Amino acid sequence: MHKETLNFQTETKELLNLMIHSIYTHKEIFLRELISNASDALDKLKFKALTDQNILKNDNEFKIEIFINKEKNTITIKDNGIGMTHEEVVSNIGTIAKSGSREFTQALKEAKNNNNDLSVIGQFGVGFYSSFMVADKITLKTKSPDSDTGVKWVSTGEGSFTIEDTKQSHRGTEIILHLREEENKEDSNAEYLEEYKIKELIQKYSDYVRYPILLEVTKT
Ligand code: ADP
Ligand code: MG
Repeated sequence: MHKETLNFQTETKELLNLMIHSIYTHKEIFLRELISNASDALDKLKFKALTDQNILKNDNEFKIEIFINKEKNTITIKDNGIGMTHEEVVSNIGTIAKSGSREFTQALKEAKNNNNDLSVIGQFGVGFYSSFMVADKITLKTKSPDSDTGVKWVSTGEGSFTIEDTKQSHRGTEIILHLREEENKEDSNAEYLEEYKIKELIQKYSDYVRYPILLEVTKT
């Protein structure tokens, strides 16, 4: 199927640039953001199913799954929530219309001018893009109950993304983070491939989530 390359908006580029080059101490919040998006997606699906039971098909055990793969250097967050249509991926993932992101960009700029004091950053709902703090490539695969096809979105966070339709038939979203390999040991992302670390982060940031969060260590 046809693959398109689209550019991020200027604002998005600015946010990504700031994120990738200035935060180190708070990058672990990417997991909180992805889990909270998965939880939101499950809430939306449940709500929609109240008036349209058919959308559930046989897939009615709402859950969030996390896979870590040391060989591939990836962490994957998967949900069987509402998913996104092609148009929704372009408008929701390709832009930062959210005021939260705008405030965050502002706070990052201020922190940079202020001896890199990033102590406030953890409080922001920084959203999907925070994953680029730890990933040099993100693949998002999704399918909405409103669409016959799935969608695959890929980006290295460097100004553009590709998007194409797929044959995915199961509902929901899967986000595969290919972890950035840092030269500096202190900034290493390797710990995000450790089971204990992910468990610790789930407990620290996502304890309130009402859906089961399953963690699996895979080799392939
Ligand atoms: P926010 O959660 O504050 O809206 P994000 O940057 O975290 O901002 O996410 C942007 C949008 O992308 C969400 O509002 C949602 O529409 C969409 N989205 C992100 N993750 C998912 C997901 N797992 N399933 C469905 N939609 C998602
Ligand atoms: Mg969010």
